[in-house]
Amino acid sequence: MAEKFDSVVVGGGPAGIAAAYTMAKVGLSVLVLEKGEKPGAKNMFGGVIFRHHTEKMAPEFWKTAPVERHVVEYQYWFLSKDSHVLVSHRNQKFNGRYNAFTVHRAKFDPWFSKLAEDAGALIINRTTVDDVIKEDGRVIGVKTERGDVLANVVVAADGVNSMLSKQAGMREELPEDAAVLAVKEVIAVPKQKIEERFNLGPDEGAAALLVGCGPGMHAGFMYTNRDTISLGMGVNIRDLDKSKQRPNDLFEQFKKHPSITPLVRDGELKEYSAHLIPEGGYDYVANVYTHGMLVAGDAAMLVNAINWEGTNLAMTSGIIAGETIIEAKKKGDFSSRTLSQYRQRLEESFVLRDLKKYREIPKFFSSNPHFFTLYPDAINELAYMWHVVDGELKQDRIKQMKAKLFKQRSRVGLMRDAYHMWRLFS
Ligand SMILES: Cc1cc2nc3c(=O)[nH]c(=O)nc-3n(C[C@H](O)[C@H](O)[C@H](O)COP(=O)(O)OP(=O)(O)OC[C@H]3O[C@@H](n4cnc5c(N)ncnc54)[C@H](O)[C@@H]3O)c2cc1C
Repeated sequence: MAEKFDSVVVGGGPAGIAAAYTMAKVGLSVLVLEKGEKPGAKNMFGGVIFRHHTEKMAPEFWKTAPVERHVVEYQYWFLSKDSHVLVSHRNQKFNGRYNAFTVHRAKFDPWFSKLAEDAGALIINRTTVDDVIKEDGRVIGVKTERGDVLANVVVAADGVNSMLSKQAGMREELPEDAAVLAVKEVIAVPKQKIEERFNLGPDEGAAALLVGCGPGMHAGFMYTNRDTISLGMGVNIRDLDKSKQRPNDLFEQFKKHPSITPLVRDGELKEYSAHLIPEGGYDYVANVYTHGMLVAGDAAMLVNAINWEGTNLAMTSGIIAGETIIEAKKKGDFSSRTLSQYRQRLEESFVLRDLKKYREIPKFFSSNPHFFTLYPDAINELAYMWHVVDGELKQDRIKQMKAKLFKQRSRVGLMRDAYHMWRLFS
């Protein structure tokens, strides 16, 4: 007979581990099944985890967790072919109260999963879940290559492609316009050089978003780790298809940009990977509950692309999933009516409130790609004209700058864009 748990969690990422930790801590029997040789082994990431959400499970975690650097500077780069305009925010408050940490997930996730293990969860790695087991329309467990496991509630935290939620009929394939393909390299650069090039102190880090010089809706990213730099680029799948370019070629082009190369000069390539990010926002959020099953994190498409947030939505949805199952166990009722509390609580939390606030933004940018192409070019051109000193009168130069801008985007177009940006973000 298959073994039965209070909950089987599929996936040992931030969502799955947060759910497992929450339930194990109060004594529920929890099994986590992870297909990688360890949590994080299969993960592709180039970014940060956030203090606020991680600390809910592990106070002052940065003292023991394998974090790389705490972020003190957020950079926004606007690229044209051979120039950039950089807007940056550095704040000493980020040294006083840490906000976010760059991490390598292959190191962070095993540490994070130990929290759940220490709380009493059983974690089995190298085990792929192949399907859900259903009985009378209810999910009652999962099938793995090692055998079946039964549970009162299955938590699908199996990431962006979530086979499990598709098999349970809760989600379709990720639509093209809601998916971003990210390619990333981890480049080894000596610690001291990173600090010189980014003007950082010993444990300080920088996080950068770069737009321009690519097809349609796209963005580059750059994160400083201790002695490596994570450099990558994400492109909307639909725009990638239209461009007929290969992601790798686009990335090479991006890496060779004259403003980027000095930052990674003489670096040694350590790792190359590609991964999807579900960036469709609120309107694409999956059905997150059914009889005997909840869906959390990327599997439910809980990513806030505007603020570069995913791990915190994953952890929070995992915690809420865990708490919902604890309540269900108290009632002895694992029906979709009881589990619907999960959606309700997500709606009340920052997870769905933030996504709802921004619900129009992904579609707006998707149908207005000139924000990623025309504007970065125009900003660079205007900055160049402003700085050139060649004896010309300033009043003539300003006239030329206006003419240049209005040639690229009409006055009405500019006003319309400004209005939409104001409306979408306020
Ligand atoms: C390039 C890149 C940069 C990013 N940068 C940031 C950032 O700076 N900040 C941020 O907050 N977020 C960032 N994100 C998003 C963030 O990585 C995700 O939102 C987050 O990892 C989601 O966590 P999760 O637990 O839902 O899924 P995942 O982290 O994807 O974990 C899913 C787990 O499930 C396992 N699994 C999958 N299928 C099965 C199966 N059938 N059986 C068993 N196990 C299975 C996988 O091996 C994996 O361990 C970035 C993403 C990418 C791709």
